[in-house]
Amino acid sequence: MLNLLKHPLLTHKLTHLRRKETNTKEFRETLEEIAGLMAYEITRDIPMKDIVVRTPLTDCQTFELAKDIVLIPVLRAGLGMVNGIANLIPGARVGHVGIYRDHLTLEPMTYYVKLPENLEDSIVMVLDPMLATGGSASTAIQVLKDSGATTIKLVCIVGVPQGISRIEKDHPDVQIFLAALDKKLDEKGYILPGLGDAGDRIFGTK
Ligand code: URA
Repeated sequence: MLNLLKHPLLTHKLTHLRRKETNTKEFRETLEEIAGLMAYEITRDIPMKDIVVRTPLTDCQTFELAKDIVLIPVLRAGLGMVNGIANLIPGARVGHVGIYRDHLTLEPMTYYVKLPENLEDSIVMVLDPMLATGGSASTAIQVLKDSGATTIKLVCIVGVPQGISRIEKDHPDVQIFLAALDKKLDEKGYILPGLGDAGDRIFGTK
């Protein structure tokens, strides 16, 4: 199910990401800010548990997060979203999934997986700024399900209908979060209007 997060700050910051002139430093910082704002919205309804803490004055009946949160950036562009979310949720554990597209078959191939333990009981957020064909995200989600994850949220910044349809078909149980729904993919698989190659813009590789 798609959740399109709408907030003036998100839209404003995303406009800055889209601009061709935005340099690597600003791109990286703004992407982190967007990821943090999105995480704030996404975690609005996560389960809490009762606890009692002792304030300097007396006991206080209060709440804390009931579940661990696990962040899974899909390498490499997903890395650009980790710090923005981890700043808000310092206890979040981070796993990594690396996926590339095979030149001959065009199929997504998993080349690296390192995951924290106890995914079964955690809220797992898969991070990838661009939801294009949905092939890598779908493969990453399958890797996590095969490792026991049951509550998975796919957090992307910009997506297109094709990618959303793919995830909804392959993983109808996974919630999809986007800050913008763009029109379509070009012939090379880039999102239009999009923001270009997210990995290159985060890491300054072009
Ligand atoms: N990946 C990107 O980095 N950008 C796109 O537009 C599509 C996929």
